[in-house]
Amino acid sequence: MKTKSLVAFLFAMCVLLLVPPAPAQDLGPHFTKIKDGIYVETAKSTPQANSNGSIVLTSEGVVLIDTGQTAIDSREIADAVKKLTPQPVRFIIDTETHPDHSYGHFLFSPPAVIINAEGAGAEMKQSFDAKRMSDTENQSPEMKAALQGFRLIPPQIEYGNKMTLRVGDRTFELFNLGTTHSLANTAVWLPNERVLFAASVAVEDQINTIRPHTNIPDMLAMMKMMKALNAEVVIPGHGVPTTNKIFDFYTGFLETLLQRVGALMKQGKTLDQIKAELRMPEYENLAGAKERIPNTAEAAYRSIKGGYSVDAK
Ligand SMILES: [Zn+2]
Repeated sequence: MKTKSLVAFLFAMCVLLLVPPAPAQDLGPHFTKIKDGIYVETAKSTPQANSNGSIVLTSEGVVLIDTGQTAIDSREIADAVKKLTPQPVRFIIDTETHPDHSYGHFLFSPPAVIINAEGAGAEMKQSFDAKRMSDTENQSPEMKAALQGFRLIPPQIEYGNKMTLRVGDRTFELFNLGTTHSLANTAVWLPNERVLFAASVAVEDQINTIRPHTNIPDMLAMMKMMKALNAEVVIPGHGVPTTNKIFDFYTGFLETLLQRVGALMKQGKTLDQIKAELRMPEYENLAGAKERIPNTAEAAYRSIKGGYSVDAK
């Protein structure tokens, strides 16, 4: 390289290094910019308490996907929206019904319209726990202030199998994930951007609770469906933005679980014996694993009793 062009090159490098940081950094340390106009806020209070709330800007207003772990996160999201655009939040899509995804509605709706799959509102109303709410308020003065004005707001729109939402220049395809985590779960696919908001069927580097209403074969089917979309970026309900490898990880966990529980059942073990004897050394050190592996073993036991064949693999 000639001296002159070397000087020009070094000058260009200096200019590049002086370019202001990406807008996501202005939004605060909890925000990650995924693509132009797409941001994710991830709560980082504990390894498990890490639900995501996302902001999608469009030419005709803002769409949120979930509203944050706690009201403190919801307010961070509301502040970030104000920094990013003067436009209003028009829609909120919930990926599940649980409080750590849906209790921030009150800051945005009305006028924002909330959408989730059928059954979402019924579960939100039925599971609302006033005592738990006041315990949350009493956690800290900061939490109390953030919850000022809280009220439970169930979705105004519930859809059946699938729904397409078009807002400005963006298309959102909503897939009903059945009862694979809460009683109403939605995956949100942005086909043009190739970004998938995958709800909480799969987690990565942690183990999730599987509730009695959830069947493992349904979870496997939904993960297969989502993997086939071939997203560039996968935003899980909990944890850092990732890729399709989240589906490989959680499918691998569930299939290993089914194999091992199936083997113990073949030996005639009872559910209690299986819970005590099951070993998952590859997964035991992950967040939530110690307390959740016996719970997931129960789900595997239920699936096999219900006719799921582990030998079919
Ligand atoms: Zn949940």
